[in-house]
Amino acid sequence: MIRSEDLPTESRLLSDPKESMDSRNLLNVLDVDFLSISMDEALAIMDRVVLEQRKESVFFINADCLNISVKDPDYLRILNSQRIVLPDGAGISIACRMIGERLAANLNGTDLLPPLCEISAKNNYSMFLLGAEPGVAERMQRNLEADYPGMKVVGQQHGYFDHDEQTTEIIEKINALKPNIVLVAFGAPRQEKWIYQHLDQLDANLLIGVGGLFDFYSGDKKRAPIWMRKTGIEWLYRLYLEPGRLWRRYIIGNPLFVYRVFRWKSKRQIR
Ligand code: UDP
Repeated sequence: MIRSEDLPTESRLLSDPKESMDSRNLLNVLDVDFLSISMDEALAIMDRVVLEQRKESVFFINADCLNISVKDPDYLRILNSQRIVLPDGAGISIACRMIGERLAANLNGTDLLPPLCEISAKNNYSMFLLGAEPGVAERMQRNLEADYPGMKVVGQQHGYFDHDEQTTEIIEKINALKPNIVLVAFGAPRQEKWIYQHLDQLDANLLIGVGGLFDFYSGDKKRAPIWMRKTGIEWLYRLYLEPGRLWRRYIIGNPLFVYRVFRWKSKRQIR
């Protein structure tokens, strides 16, 4: 495990990872900036935010997120206003190749959570789980505490509350527990908008948008076999599990994303 102090100087996190990365580490697809860094570098950045008691959001973007950002200017603005935006999934990797770049790593929340829990258990960082259906976060908490001895999950809250009426109460609940890390699992772009809107009020160091992660770590949904994840077709497994909900996202969304990147790239070349 690389720690932040072991990183080469140019990729150390100063106050702004976007500024402290050299230009090779900062990529842009469909007008969204993100960091092209290794898993160890991402973890070192997060570790450092907690160590220095600062506050950052961490967002992951995949092809579906970028498809949404094309139609949702608020989401696009929020993504570009934050410092730690990480690429998730084969779609982004393909898009990078289309523009002649190579992605350092695929950094989805599901793969990032185990080492983040190891760091948290070792350094006594606490975590709060916010999101998913009632009961899911509790099951995830039990699994995390069993898998990572010493891991402090200080509380959890399901994600089907009234956002207008109950957000203040939920923020008070989180702040009373003072977690270092809050995982927010409402799906994109709802979770990013919620984090962005309430960042100032939340008393935590890392606010991480994690999509469907709780459903996997609670054991409620099976994750794709490793060979599918390694070959970039995890989405196919998710589609197989939930065709009704996800066909539009993948069957229409994936080719649409490639088309959009192609068109965006051609326009950029003309300019
Ligand atoms: N969710 C939630 N509140 C909502 C809507 C969704 O907590 O109002 C949860 C949902 O239960 C699921 C997650 O958000 O656990 C979204 O999962 P999805 O698979 O759509 O996310 P992805 O990983 O694909 O972004």
